[in-house]
Amino acid sequence: MPSTADVPFLSLNTGARIPQLGFGVFQVPPEDTAETVKLALDAGYRSIDTASMYENEKEVGDAIAQSGLPREELFVTTKLGNHDHGHDAALEALDASLERLGLDYVDLYLIHWPIPSQDLYVETWKALEEANADGRARAIGVSNFLPEHLERVVTETDTVPAVNQIELHPRFQQEGSRAYHSDHGIVTEAWSPLAQGGDLLGDPVIQEIAQAHDRTPAQVVLRWHLQLGNVVIPKSITPDRIASNIDVADFELGTEQMESIAGLDSGDGRVGPDPERFPS
Ligand code: NDP
Repeated sequence: MPSTADVPFLSLNTGARIPQLGFGVFQVPPEDTAETVKLALDAGYRSIDTASMYENEKEVGDAIAQSGLPREELFVTTKLGNHDHGHDAALEALDASLERLGLDYVDLYLIHWPIPSQDLYVETWKALEEANADGRARAIGVSNFLPEHLERVVTETDTVPAVNQIELHPRFQQEGSRAYHSDHGIVTEAWSPLAQGGDLLGDPVIQEIAQAHDRTPAQVVLRWHLQLGNVVIPKSITPDRIASNIDVADFELGTEQMESIAGLDSGDGRVGPDPERFPS
């Protein structure tokens, strides 16, 4: 049985630490969210990734409150919705999220999508800097930002994002973004780290490595992420998967196995939307 102590931490540019493996709740129906998050907390997860767009922040907050865990042991991330860009709207959106979560602060607040056609993300970022300064968001970051969007934030504002949460898995490895993040001290957080559990997990390369370690394909993929230095937030509503996805501390992929998985990048293996165009 894995324990919280087995999950490594990465340091953010704020000095705070983020668990390298957390729990995502996209597409967990609100009516199932409190029970699912309870299962995750019981299994040892201490980082929960939600968003106003997931419409389950209240239920995440209920599970946190019911857990009785000290607030400082938890790392809670939520995200600014696409209709909440702009200075005042952004600050109001954060307050609304905190209210739904029943929390005084979040550990990480992300701009969910840059929406370049709207060209408001720099203004929105400046509002997040204020929320960071007054403590409502202990760290601030972005999601789905391409290097060109990050570059504008870095050059036009005073704060480098702590995190960029992007689609990343063996079929879509995002080397360019990872290099930009690494050059600027930005933590890479992988969404859909299992490529949404699709046929990646049946890939013969992943299957063979899983057999060699007597692990599940999902554990192999998550281990690959951790060894690359990514934060991962796999989602599951299935109790045994919730437990096994966090149980990845006690095996290690060899160099050749890491290279075999690196070879699975298809260049255009996205399972989600393209940030340049979403939402259209
Ligand atoms: P994941 O890659 O985490 O895959 C989730 C899917 O894989 C579910 O269908 C789940 O099924 C299945 N699965 C989970 N564990 C296993 C396993 N061990 N074996 C086989 N199948 C498994 O995809 P998500 O898109 O959910 O991404 C994870 C998180 O990333 C989200 O919950 C959200 O927090 C975040 N995210 C952020 C986005 C952004 O724009 N910032 C966009 C998308 C996601 P089941 O639940 O039935 O067990």
